Amino acid sequence: MPEVILTDKQLQERLKYWQERLRLRDWDIEAEIVPLSAMDDQTHGGENTYLLQSKASRISILNHGDYQNMNCIIPHDMEETLVHELLHLHFAPFDSEKNYMPIEQAIESLAKAFVETDRQKV
Ligand SMILES: [Zn+2]
Repeated sequence: MPEVILTDKQLQERLKYWQERLRLRDWDIEAEIVPLSAMDDQTHGGENTYLLQSKASRISILNHGDYQNMNCIIPHDMEETLVHELLHLHFAPFDSEKNYMPIEQAIESLAKAFVETDRQKV
């Protein structure tokens, strides 16, 4: 799988597109590309800080240089990371320590499937 690196402008465009497609219209969502030092959890390529009550979310996507330094075995795909973080909002009501791994795995599978299907269209 090739890497998919987005500029900030492309990220904003993809955010609008996926927010609509994933029916997350009523959420206030911001997304930005950040350095590793700005991530709370420095083991992931993305993170989503959200407030379920007010449906507000801030998504951070790790920049490409820092991602490469992590020596991750999965190619960097910023769009898939964005979709993954957006899907967390649908699962937010079920958040708990016990559910963490099954939710992560479900989201990972769904994000891959959505992005793959989307790319087959073009
Ligand atoms: Zn996740």
